[in-house]
Amino acid sequence: MTDSLMNTYKRLPVGFIRGEGAWLWDEANTQYLDAIGGIAVCALGHAHPALTRAISEQAATLLHTSNLFRIPLQEQLGDRLTRASGMEKAFFCNSGAEANEAAIKLARLYGNNKKYKAPTIVVMENSFHGRTLATLTATGSRKVQAGFEPLVKGFLRVPFGDVAALETVAQNATEIVAVMVEPIQGEGGIRIPDAGYLAHIRRMCDEHDWLMILDEIQTGVGRTGRFLAAEHDGILPDIVSLAKALGNGIPIGACLARGNAATLFHPGNHGTTFGGNPFACRAALTVLDTIEKEQLMPRAAALGAKITDLFRARFDGHPMVREIRGKGLMIGIELTQAAPELPALALQHGVVLNVTADKVIRLLPPYILTDQEAGELVDRVCAAVDALTAQRQTATA
Ligand SMILES: *Cc1c(COP(=O)(O)O)cnc(C)c1O
Repeated sequence: MTDSLMNTYKRLPVGFIRGEGAWLWDEANTQYLDAIGGIAVCALGHAHPALTRAISEQAATLLHTSNLFRIPLQEQLGDRLTRASGMEKAFFCNSGAEANEAAIKLARLYGNNKKYKAPTIVVMENSFHGRTLATLTATGSRKVQAGFEPLVKGFLRVPFGDVAALETVAQNATEIVAVMVEPIQGEGGIRIPDAGYLAHIRRMCDEHDWLMILDEIQTGVGRTGRFLAAEHDGILPDIVSLAKALGNGIPIGACLARGNAATLFHPGNHGTTFGGNPFACRAALTVLDTIEKEQLMPRAAALGAKITDLFRARFDGHPMVREIRGKGLMIGIELTQAAPELPALALQHGVVLNVTADKVIRLLPPYILTDQEAGELVDRVCAAVDALTAQRQTATA
């Protein structure tokens, strides 16, 4: 292990060097089932042949030209994504945080056009929107913000899922321009709001002339069984941010908008050197093609239902498991206590997983899992949780 990297992550000691489908191999050639998919990124799994072919071809053709020129592949991707999402216009960047930065800048311009002096974006407790200064300010976690003060002005926080708190803000705060929310909180612990919550926000945004910004960076691109998780609630946001699964590992983010929000940017307002380059756009187009061709959105929905059913049966009455929740292939298993050692223990049981919000096992597997692999995933996660339970029982005995 090297000492040359900045200390931003408490990394597990395993190093993967090869992947195929839902499987990863480490330096000792040990094989693991990947239940985290590079944090919701590798929707098609690893080394998907269609993507490998497309990006190899594109690498041999043209990687980058800059946004000083037309980029035909970016135009194609813009058409595809706006059609898939019900939005009208797209801005491409390289990450989730950048997509949210674009969304925040659109909301600021929207307020500026209304001659607001202090345009304010309502954000949620327990949310996650990224690590840049504006997006860490929008994030509802002190851990993410601590040490980086002064934070960015113009954000107001309310509890997630709380319609009454939002109504109070609407009555008391002035110069609100937008509400920014994740349809399901990912980093926050796979928290799913009550049915009707997003529709209520949509109605309030319409009533008060606010923009509804949905952060679908983790939920989007089919993970919950629909292209956007918002489709389950039958609503359209004004702005939506995408990233993670969009490039299956080739970095790309997108900020999509419709209506007034779609035409706020003009030359000089915003930009990027790399964003939407031919290589990244070819990757994203291939991801979208493959999801469609292999019918992976209904597959994600069916797999998610099957996996959560299996977990509910296996963990029924389990002393360490409080709740199992999920939509499609975004699955959380909330434990009764914090379990920082579980990811390392899971590796010993041949499965790669993540624990978020201290005690929620987070599973974000690829959509290409077979039924047999889904069963294997459940077996391995259960074995790891049972091993953890046995360790805790020995420790307290
Ligand atoms: C991952 C994530 C982000 C940040 O994306 P980066 O690519 O890491 O900048 C923002 N919002 C949500 C909901 C995420 O899951």
